[in-house]
Amino acid sequence: MGKVAVGAAVVCAAAVCAAAAAAAVVHHRKKSSGKWGPVEAMVKEFEEQCSSPIGKLRKIADAMEVEMHAGLASEGGSKLKMLISYVDNLPSGDEKGFFYALDLGGTNFRVLRVQLGGKEKGVVSLHSEEVSIPPHLMTGSSHELFDFIATSLAKFISSEPEEFHPPPGKQRELGFTFSFPVRQTSIASGTLIKWTKGFRIEDVVGEDVVGELTKAMKKTGLDMRVAALINDAVGTLARGRFSNQDVIAGVILGTGTNAAYVERANAIPKLQGSLPKSGDMVINMEWGNFCSSYLPLTEYDRALDAESLNPGEQIFEKMISGMYLGDIVRRVLFRMAEEADFFGDTVPRKLRIPFILRTPDISAMHHDTSSDLKVVGNKLKDVLEIDNTSLKMRKIVVKLCDIIAIRAARVAAAGNFSILKKIGRDTVNAGKKQKTVISLDGGLFEHYNKFRTCLESTIKELLGDDGAETIGIEHSNDGSGIGAALLAASHSQYLAMEDS
Ligand code: ADP
Ligand code: MG
Repeated sequence: MGKVAVGAAVVCAAAVCAAAAAAAVVHHRKKSSGKWGPVEAMVKEFEEQCSSPIGKLRKIADAMEVEMHAGLASEGGSKLKMLISYVDNLPSGDEKGFFYALDLGGTNFRVLRVQLGGKEKGVVSLHSEEVSIPPHLMTGSSHELFDFIATSLAKFISSEPEEFHPPPGKQRELGFTFSFPVRQTSIASGTLIKWTKGFRIEDVVGEDVVGELTKAMKKTGLDMRVAALINDAVGTLARGRFSNQDVIAGVILGTGTNAAYVERANAIPKLQGSLPKSGDMVINMEWGNFCSSYLPLTEYDRALDAESLNPGEQIFEKMISGMYLGDIVRRVLFRMAEEADFFGDTVPRKLRIPFILRTPDISAMHHDTSSDLKVVGNKLKDVLEIDNTSLKMRKIVVKLCDIIAIRAARVAAAGNFSILKKIGRDTVNAGKKQKTVISLDGGLFEHYNKFRTCLESTIKELLGDDGAETIGIEHSNDGSGIGAALLAASHSQYLAMEDS
């Protein structure tokens, strides 16, 4: 049944979003007087379209909560896939020993060895190697890609000193962070639904990801057990939980965006009675694909989506994640150059190049505290080859960065709030002050200060004074790496033996 239903949901999401964006196209810009008039009118109009007052954010959160319910009810029931992760055993904090992790689906592929020291010592040591994936392997055959991964892992293991060799009869255990949408069949098996982020390998879609990896590992002679197959959001949740048992969700704000949270198993109809022992189940929301007519979408978002590799999909992600924020700024600057001669008579050539302005660039400009906005001037010169910008122009560029980053942070906050609402942690229950913590990770959250502070303050704003007291937001460092090792530990085949 799944396929038809999923197709319908996607078409529907695309239609809703196209309509929402189309409604935002308003082509009656008022003619203002003076040299800066038309530019200022465009900025003002853009700011209005991007505005996200608290009432709107509440509606976005409500809409997301409705989609969460629908996605939990049935396969393909919503644009939120609400995938069952089969992680029903989050780290307790007592995990000890050496565990391994693979992290695929971020900017680089990584192999890690993590030493866990339980509650007292936490993460004792971490050894990791970053390997860039040769581009031809991202579009080749799955065998080549998995052979490459297994070979990198084998090299890592073969260079390990004696002290890391497991005792006779014991296998090394591995957590695999595979940050693509996967339909899991157990904690350590699942089939790829589709590639994203530039990977296009048809022959592994629908295949068991762990099976492919295990086959490739056997070829290299590696004797290792894949104990957990997860993604970066689930890893971030696990990483947070290891250090703080109040953590209930993991959110990624990096190149892309996603969230995972702990749901009561009896609130997941599509589990169909196969209830986990703990009564809880981690849900991988795949929230990047969320869309709602309440999202403050503009003509620039619509154009970005239409020209993207996946039009109509990942609308939420395209509005809030690091891959796209810089390009939204570029699109607005381009239109201002074309329609209002913002940079003089000609449109700067480089402004036509998609993704030339990256999110770290707009972050640097946004944080420029020099009186003459030197950083902004240099970025415009170095990245876009625009010389001789006036202070007035630089100020307008900063204003655009601000509008786009603040919209992203506020909308992302509504997403966080919807999770708290869904599990009833958005209000203080009958005087009980139960602590609730969300773990966040990703380059955007970590490095874009104004984005992060706005995200945090908006979550508080949504919660109100009482709620804000009991909700914590923590940076969970390297959830996609350490989290996978932690879940390998909490799903180790040797746990049962230790218990008995
Ligand atoms: P990935 O999502 O690939 O695993 P990260 O979590 O490290 O990687 O996030 C990388 C992303 O974070 C980049 O694509 C970029 O958009 C964003 N980023 C990195 N540095 C900065 C910065 N200084 N300011 C704003 N965003 C940043
Ligand atoms: Mg990552």
